[in-house]
Amino acid sequence: MADKMLHAIVNRLAAGHSLERSQWRYLLTLRDDDDKEFLRRSAADIAVSHFGKGIYVRALVEISSYCRNNCNYCGIRCSNKSASRYRLTKEQILNCCKEGDMMGFNTFVLQGGEDPIQDNEWIADVVKSIHAEFPDKAITLSVGERGYDAYRAFREAGACRYLMRHETRDEAHYARLHPANMNASSRRNALLQLKELGYQVGSGMMIGSPYQTIDNLIDDFMFLDELQPHMIGIGPFIPAQNTPFEYFKSGSVEFTILSVSLLRIRFPNALIPATTALATLHPQGRLMAILAGANVVMPNLSPMDVREKYAIYDNKKSNGNESAQQLKGLENELAGIGYYVDYSRGDYVENKK
Ligand code: SAH
Repeated sequence: MADKMLHAIVNRLAAGHSLERSQWRYLLTLRDDDDKEFLRRSAADIAVSHFGKGIYVRALVEISSYCRNNCNYCGIRCSNKSASRYRLTKEQILNCCKEGDMMGFNTFVLQGGEDPIQDNEWIADVVKSIHAEFPDKAITLSVGERGYDAYRAFREAGACRYLMRHETRDEAHYARLHPANMNASSRRNALLQLKELGYQVGSGMMIGSPYQTIDNLIDDFMFLDELQPHMIGIGPFIPAQNTPFEYFKSGSVEFTILSVSLLRIRFPNALIPATTALATLHPQGRLMAILAGANVVMPNLSPMDVREKYAIYDNKKSNGNESAQQLKGLENELAGIGYYVDYSRGDYVENKK
């Protein structure tokens, strides 16, 4: 039986209130299995009461593994000379979307490194063409920091969602994860600009990234409170070879699941994916996240011959039920826990309940 304090805090969250630092600390340092199970079940109940047993699907197209940035954790950082590089053409991306449309997807996510060749005009043009061909589909971008004018041009071209994790709220921790030319405040500023432009905005952080402390995570939760994102992506850190963090250990699956529960309880309407990083570290990772309140999966729709090259971390899963080509497998997997694939666009709705 979970203790009184836990019930009181969960009730406070469920009533839509934010928490004090000490209360976040209490939740993030829970050790007792019954307490964690109580959180997980509360989160799953909240997700079901808001979204039913439907899990939204987004088709993910990884458009380039070239990147001008040099994030210390990322396998496609520019100074990784052994990374395999590719960039999709506009025609290849449109073909992916056609294939995705036939499979039944209603959302496309274009994600990539900050590739100088795929510049802002190019991205806007690709979005415009997808939007012209599939006016009813939601187009999501996750192409890094591009500046206000670019976000506006992408929006006008037809993009309606943008994923950009804040990575970590704490400036000093951010500086340990990134090169000197990147900073936490410009990332946060970009998120505010995206919101102002009317995007449905996704943010989030890795769990267990090098040097991350509980205080860092508390700052992350408090920042999300402030930002009120529509989507929140979290996944365990996984080391990538030939990066400065190659020999660090992966984030904990269990702690990631606990964090998913907390996010769901705090943000009942948010779109929260069961991330590929979780599925990479644990064969049941995706199901565990769904049973802790996640309500989105993002199957990989990149062309088969480039999937292995978008290696932001080692052994990244892109086959099996992570693959857009295996929707039947995903349907069966979800059916096994009493859930189903919801093929609709799955826009953010305030007061979904
Ligand atoms: N260039 C885009 C997309 C980045 S990839 C952008 O800047 O937003 C999407 C996310 O993958 C990143 O935001 C990061 O949180 C996560 N990621 C990158 N490397 C990782 C690693 N080694 N382990 C786990 N997650 C990682």
